[in-house]
Amino acid sequence: MATELPKAFDPKEAQKRWLAFWTEKNYGHSEPDGRTPYSIVIPPPNVTGALHMGHALNNTLQDVLIRWRRMQGYNAEWMPGTDHAGIATQAVVERRIWAEEKKTRRDLGREELVRRIWQWKDQYEARILGQLQQIGCSCDWQRTAFTLDEKRSRAVRETFFRMFRDGYIFRGKRLVNWDTQLLTSVSDDETYTEDVKSGFWTFKYPVKGMPDTFIRFSTTRPETMLGDTAVCVHPSDERYKHLVGKTVTIPLLGRDIPIIADGQLADPELGTGAVKVTPGHDPNDYACYTRHPEIGIINILNPDGTINENGGKYQGMDRYKAREAVIKDMEEKGYFEGKEDRVIPLKFSDRSKTPIEPYLSDQWFVKMGDRDDGQPGFAQMAMDAVSSGRVKFFPARYANTYLEWLGEKRDWCISRQLWWGHRIPVWSDGCPDKEDLDQHVSWLRANPDLRAAEDTGDLVVSEHADEELSRQYENLCAIGTPEALAKFKQLRRERPPYYLHVALHFEDSRLVEQLEKRGFHQSEDVLDTWFSSMLWTHSTFGWPDQTPELDYYYPTSTLVTSRDIITLWVARMVIAGLYNLNDIPFHHVYITPKMLDTFGEGMSKTKGNGVDPLDIIELYGADALRYQMVSIAGETQDSRLPVSNVCPHCGELNAVKQEHMYMRTKKVACTKCKKPFRPGGPWPDEDPELQTARQASERFEIGRNFANKLWNAARFILMNLDGYTSGPLDPKSLPIEDRWILSRLATTTKTVTDLLEEYHFSEVARTIYDFTWSEFCDWYVEMAKGRLKDPAGRVGVQRLLVGVLDAIVKLVHPIMPFVAESLWQALNEAAPDRGLPEPLKAAESVMIAPWPALPTDWQDPAMETRIARMQELVRIVRDVRNRYSVDSKTPLEVFVRCSEAVATDFQALRAFITLLAGVGKLHYGPGVAKPKQAATQVTSEFEAYVSLEGLIDPAAEVKRLEKQLAEKRKQLDATKAKLANEGFVSRAPAEVVAQQRELVAELEKQIASIEETIRELKA
Ligand SMILES: [Zn+2]
Repeated sequence: MATELPKAFDPKEAQKRWLAFWTEKNYGHSEPDGRTPYSIVIPPPNVTGALHMGHALNNTLQDVLIRWRRMQGYNAEWMPGTDHAGIATQAVVERRIWAEEKKTRRDLGREELVRRIWQWKDQYEARILGQLQQIGCSCDWQRTAFTLDEKRSRAVRETFFRMFRDGYIFRGKRLVNWDTQLLTSVSDDETYTEDVKSGFWTFKYPVKGMPDTFIRFSTTRPETMLGDTAVCVHPSDERYKHLVGKTVTIPLLGRDIPIIADGQLADPELGTGAVKVTPGHDPNDYACYTRHPEIGIINILNPDGTINENGGKYQGMDRYKAREAVIKDMEEKGYFEGKEDRVIPLKFSDRSKTPIEPYLSDQWFVKMGDRDDGQPGFAQMAMDAVSSGRVKFFPARYANTYLEWLGEKRDWCISRQLWWGHRIPVWSDGCPDKEDLDQHVSWLRANPDLRAAEDTGDLVVSEHADEELSRQYENLCAIGTPEALAKFKQLRRERPPYYLHVALHFEDSRLVEQLEKRGFHQSEDVLDTWFSSMLWTHSTFGWPDQTPELDYYYPTSTLVTSRDIITLWVARMVIAGLYNLNDIPFHHVYITPKMLDTFGEGMSKTKGNGVDPLDIIELYGADALRYQMVSIAGETQDSRLPVSNVCPHCGELNAVKQEHMYMRTKKVACTKCKKPFRPGGPWPDEDPELQTARQASERFEIGRNFANKLWNAARFILMNLDGYTSGPLDPKSLPIEDRWILSRLATTTKTVTDLLEEYHFSEVARTIYDFTWSEFCDWYVEMAKGRLKDPAGRVGVQRLLVGVLDAIVKLVHPIMPFVAESLWQALNEAAPDRGLPEPLKAAESVMIAPWPALPTDWQDPAMETRIARMQELVRIVRDVRNRYSVDSKTPLEVFVRCSEAVATDFQALRAFITLLAGVGKLHYGPGVAKPKQAATQVTSEFEAYVSLEGLIDPAAEVKRLEKQLAEKRKQLDATKAKLANEGFVSRAPAEVVAQQRELVAELEKQIASIEETIRELKA
């Protein structure tokens, strides 16, 4: 039965149809059974986010793995879900409420703000999940999880409680990245660094008791002088040795601070060799303080970035206003020495785009270092899992990133001053002294309910003393004046140095009520988002319950993620897995390359080079998008994609130039239709007069063309299936071309499978593409055409064509599932019994068809070499035909000088050579001589001469070619002159210069070829 496919593949129609079909069949769903599982958890996208190219890359690769393993017979589970993304989400919603209602989070209150964010979440979660479906992700959608849903929240509380109980979570005062606008600490990954112009001021402090002696130092943040607690010099610096141990006075406050020696902070080679030390507002100074705790630490900022009570008369000023005032006062007092302009790297908050302040605050931490009993701590456990090879990175070099970061064993700040997230289940009360603390503990133990909870292990008490505050208070007491003692008593009440923390395992309103009645308050903070996402590999399968899913799918097989979050996410998942389940969370971690534009810049909508995957699906189809994603996933760290603006009028791709980016160009004229448009960028509004272009790349044409090529070959085969019957194949009895294509198919299938095992995605794409496009479509189908017309050979060749096409559709399916399913369904109509090596009834969908596996003895390297040699000869003849513009109907006479063995082989393949190359007379053998007027080509195994006698007028041809040669030489000279001009090379954009260099190489190649042809014609 013949089946006729439409003339062209319609991606939109296929996407709509097969998404509905797969959803209805629920192929993505998995339940534990007797098969071997293969599981992946999705890196949960931010719930308020929209799909970008990073997602497209990452999720396409996961889908390729899942579809492939499912076909291999594994029970494949791809767990989908989204992340509540604490600060990112809260910032977006707060901004929107401010824009629409002019209300802040404090106007709304905690409960109302959280309610609003949930509404927003419901709306946006559907959007991002829908977009993942659009690119074809075959997730187990009915298991979709959310990091803040009830089940995941239970896992968070359980983990927090256990870590608290086991002493891994502690309260500490540390320097954190502080966002003065959002009023929260942010992690390093939520910040970015930009070079900004700044002043670099030099001041001096007078040394106490030594008239006319000063210490000079420089700073980019003069206001931090208010928080200085020391001046530091290098211990070996002769200039200052006699001053170490003395004190200087901060003129602004009249406060005395010591001069200390520290070899790590001060560098005698830099500036004056002396530095001021502000432990409360600088990470390096803070580190110095930890080595010299006696200098103390002073915080001068309020959470909103204004100066606090420690700043004396500057209290209440914004930090930048205070900077100006401080400089002015130092100058007036005669302690200002000079100012330079500098460009310095400054850290900004990614969410509010305001400068980060290093800020000393009380936070909750997870201890990463080794345990007090000497046992390995979290960091070491996670390092061992990778060093021992239990968790493997692909490419392997990324293990270094992981190990280096963990090697620092830095404690992890897990509290965030936000409202959107998992609220910390700890109730605390401050105590002015140790006695008060002890009374609290006695009360707690006397309370029957609380006591009972502690006895069952569902309540944990932890005492904590703020050592820095205690030290400050001791100093006040030591002064001993009535004023100092009064101040001490007041401060001790306002900022108590002792704390009692009570963590509750479960939300138990009776316990909470009694704690709160006694004066305990639940922490206002929520947990860092990574605290919940680190549980993702097991919270999604039901942990802390021992579910059948957890038992079956955990540890998961592979994690696919980006290198940016190896430390923040991958490392912490390993810790959480080992801690909660005593097992690694995944066996393999594949790290995707980073996608950049032609200029090496990251893609982003704000720059104007951000390609939107949904636009690509619209313009080229989801398969084309996916094909390109797989193609760029090679071994390199970065992958570049040329980006173009799509003309909104005619669709022409106009390359994005650097001067178009960041809204630097308002208007561009299309190179084709000449109509104007606006290049991509963060334009504040629409311009009805000037449409904004979408972004795309010509690279997506490769996948689209590939789908079309396959479609056309399949269409031809399906139209020639009248009389098809299925039957087994015995390669030994088949003609040479059939044995060849089966050998190539067996080799290709084996190669693709091996490459997938090693995550060499780009080579997988190239291998399937080359086999399908060139060997199958261009060669085998052409070679098969003759037998299709021959009643004796027809059934045999039909079986071959259908069998190989069936295997190709399966190989293509993980990468391009839509075109694969379309062809599979057409094959199911025309040839329901098919397949290699034995025909079988085909599966109802390619998604659940078995992955091709062919007998290894079908691979025949000798056969592959023979056909490759024949192809080389055919290509040579075709080239000559093109070069001399001989029309395709004119048969050519070809002479091949070669060994007897090769001649015998050409004899066997003679029919194909004459058919495929349009050869009339073919001569071969060791005695063949070069004829007059012939084009020559030499290969390692033969010399081919294509006679041109009678086909062209040699004299006229030489004349024409000499004219062409002169033109090319002129063009070459002009281009070379341009490149020799330094003015051009230094001023022109780099890509223009590169183009000119490529032109030189191209022209030189053309000239050599024309010269060779002229020589041949004259011979
Ligand atoms: Zn146009």
